Amino acid sequence: MTDFDYDLFVIGAGSGGVRAARIAAGYGAKVAIAEEHRVGGTCVIRGCVPKKLMVYASQFSEAFEDAEGFGWSVGETSFDWSRLIAAKDREIDRLNAIYIRNLTNSGVELFQSRAVVEGPHEVRLSAEDRVVTARLILVATGGTPWLDTELKGIEHVITSNEVFYLKDMPKRVVIAGGGYIAVEFAGIFAGLGADTTLVYRGSEILRGFDGEVRTFVRTEMEKRGVKFVFNDVFTAIDKGPDGLTATLRGGTTLEADQILFATGRRPAVEGLGLEAVGVEMDAVGAVKVNHESRTNVPSIYAIGDVTNRVNLTPVAIREGHGFADTVFGGKPVHVDHTLIPTAVFSQPEIGTVGLTQEEAVAAFDEVDVYRSSFRPMLATLSGRDERMFMKILVDAETDKVLGVHVAGHGAGEMAQLLGIAVKMGATKADFDRTVAVHPTAAEELVTMRTPSERLRRDAAA
Ligand code: NDP
Repeated sequence: MTDFDYDLFVIGAGSGGVRAARIAAGYGAKVAIAEEHRVGGTCVIRGCVPKKLMVYASQFSEAFEDAEGFGWSVGETSFDWSRLIAAKDREIDRLNAIYIRNLTNSGVELFQSRAVVEGPHEVRLSAEDRVVTARLILVATGGTPWLDTELKGIEHVITSNEVFYLKDMPKRVVIAGGGYIAVEFAGIFAGLGADTTLVYRGSEILRGFDGEVRTFVRTEMEKRGVKFVFNDVFTAIDKGPDGLTATLRGGTTLEADQILFATGRRPAVEGLGLEAVGVEMDAVGAVKVNHESRTNVPSIYAIGDVTNRVNLTPVAIREGHGFADTVFGGKPVHVDHTLIPTAVFSQPEIGTVGLTQEEAVAAFDEVDVYRSSFRPMLATLSGRDERMFMKILVDAETDKVLGVHVAGHGAGEMAQLLGIAVKMGATKADFDRTVAVHPTAAEELVTMRTPSERLRRDAAA
């Protein structure tokens, strides 16, 4: 029997923390969880889920236009931001209630409170001003948007925390950053009809993704009306009677109703008390953990974005589940962070798994590139100037598929299934002997017979 109040105390009821708590409780552990905001965490409350609902909302403008080519006459259309936000909020409320119910049904005790680590086994609950003890503590606090607080006028910008709750739809939007959030919201606002400009310090969006995919997506976004300013950064943001003015280092000024900063996220460790108990963190504040998600303090574990390994919801869930299986289920799990399929809900959407062309050429002597760019069937009758892009990278020596990259409708759905094949170690011959599903865009993935080119490591060096 334990001398502690709990076997496990989880700090943070986001996707990862909730999964860990429920699985541990399922193994018979006495579990509590604390959440200072809303149960569900970033992904459910102010991330992936509301974002995807807003992506859907923004796609109707194209659908109305495309419908004409299929014989429809679409009358005058209008969009009501407050109705979208209200509908989105109702859905988030529903999911929040499900999360709470699932925790309760699993026997997990929920504290709506900030929790601060006060010792290797002690957690202070701020809302109740008392300390509880636990044999193990799991830190699952996620991340928070990072802002350059030195920038003049930074107090006028919004982050992904606020963008979901704006009272009015901004007519002119400036977005800072070239990562997932910046690119996804550029698509959302442009689709909803806002004048949208993305400002990025580099020369192409989505660093880390396949080079051709980056350029393809940016070009397609330009066709949809998004404006890009590259190789520039903000020097000041001023508020005037007619809105905000962003001044860039290059001298450009941009007028906006809202300026969204999506310049990355940082692990949420501030004021958590981790330093005081000796938990090691890296330079950006990420909690250092081993393959079992254990910190250097044996009774304290950490999972998800607070550990800054691969910052994606399904990875946090996997880490949380693996932790509970290992520690409470007697089933040691070593979470595999390789070949994680992922999607960016940009417009066009990206679905990808495995190495980029740049990574493949750096790691393998000869890489065959199978590439296809075509007009999607929907665009034939709609007349829309739109293309789809696909690429398969193959190790020429072993025929193994190293990476697959898709940009266009349904790319995210494709990535999930491509992820299975690539994870299983599929060869190009496996792709080739798979019968096509016709007529789909995805069939192109099993019908590319001849490499577009063979890249050699020496030539690329
Ligand atoms: P990202 O890390 O994807 O992108 C941050 C962007 O901000 C980069 O373009 C970066 O530039 C730029 N940046 C960073 N610091 C500065 C600076 N000082 N000045 C100017 N620009 C700067 O972060 P996001 O905020 O877009 O997203 C956070 C995380 O959320 C992602 O890591 C992702 O894992 C997750 N996410 C996943 C989604 C999905 O799976 N679909 C959707 C949304 C978020 P540079 O590239 O030059 O460093």
